[in-house]
Amino acid sequence: MRSWPEVYLPPAPANIKAPELKLLDSYKGSLVPVNQRVVTSYVCGITPYDATHLGHAATYLTFDLIHRYLLARGQELLFAENITDIDDPLLERANRDKVDWQTLATSQIDLFVGDMTALHVIPPKYYRGVIESMDLIDEFIQTCQSNSLSYFVDRDLYLDLSKVEEFPGNLPMPLADAIALFKERGGDPERSGKRHPLDPLLWRAHRENEPQWESSAGAGRPGWHIECTAIALRSLPRGEHTSITLQGGGSDLIFPHHYMTALQAKALTKVDFATAYVHAGMIGLDGEKMSKSKGNLVFVSKLLASGVRASAIRVALMLEHYQSDRMWDEELLTTANQIINRLEFNLARNEVAPTLSVIQDIVEALSNNLDTPKVLKLLGQWCERTESGVAGGSTGELSRALDTYLGIVL
Ligand code: ZN
Repeated sequence: MRSWPEVYLPPAPANIKAPELKLLDSYKGSLVPVNQRVVTSYVCGITPYDATHLGHAATYLTFDLIHRYLLARGQELLFAENITDIDDPLLERANRDKVDWQTLATSQIDLFVGDMTALHVIPPKYYRGVIESMDLIDEFIQTCQSNSLSYFVDRDLYLDLSKVEEFPGNLPMPLADAIALFKERGGDPERSGKRHPLDPLLWRAHRENEPQWESSAGAGRPGWHIECTAIALRSLPRGEHTSITLQGGGSDLIFPHHYMTALQAKALTKVDFATAYVHAGMIGLDGEKMSKSKGNLVFVSKLLASGVRASAIRVALMLEHYQSDRMWDEELLTTANQIINRLEFNLARNEVAPTLSVIQDIVEALSNNLDTPKVLKLLGQWCERTESGVAGGSTGELSRALDTYLGIVL
């Protein structure tokens, strides 16, 4: 799959001391240092049927801040992202709207790529669709079968979780809650013939009116979690202690998707999957979670078409911490525009308050699990000092740093 255009990152000021990045791991509940020389990052991509709403934007902009920080600090980044271009929700939407599923997917992938380009998101080095990855997914399906990690129910292949050492000891919640959530998020805990309610589907046998591919488990299509396990393990080079460094996405992926992805990877490689599992909070609208089913999605493309600047969307999503679930409203955009206008106004002055010290403080705030509310507060204080006549800074230096670390291009 063709990724979007590269983003130019101005070099960080030479005398900035950037601490190692620490990110909160959703399963461990503690901060994990990301200090590897080469960082491999796998961020779960979209299912292309409703790209790109603000929930997506919040997730991808969060990982963009992480990637920018690592690159500015001189760490090497290998970033992979998938596109779930065949899955139940895509087929259901295409059926409902009486459109061809491939036409729907192609149009939404184009829209997503356009939105990511407009938001100056650093593109993945490996951007892979599921359809183009069937061979490598089949490789993992075969390994599951030959290692007796799987079983059939009718013609559908499931992973046998009882063969996985870590399960159920590492479940992030009580079993009953996990089963309920598994069902809510597309799982089939009640299907008779399954050995455990949480056993995930590896391969779904062909059904009438559904697309199909050949595999060692017969004709059909892959289950959701094995797609990401295979694409991540085959796109990124294995690390020293874990297969990859970062596994990321929205917090609705903590369970079951990322849990199952990691469990499958461990069962197949015998190595822990990721060093850190990082998740962005959910974005709601008018007091409700933003979701396809509620039909209350706010699309990035519509905001941009109505004249909203990409930097305003970025700043609006930085006003609260990336991990908090938050509401979107017009007021956020108004506040973001005020911040941007004030920065622009001050950066146009001949004399500005010292800039290197504020950049140093911003870098330290980012290193602490991306404390963006603090970053915006620091920028507000710099504006105040500049407005009160303090001098000694360089406008170019701060403008470049806003671009490098925050993706804000004024
Ligand atoms: Zn995924």
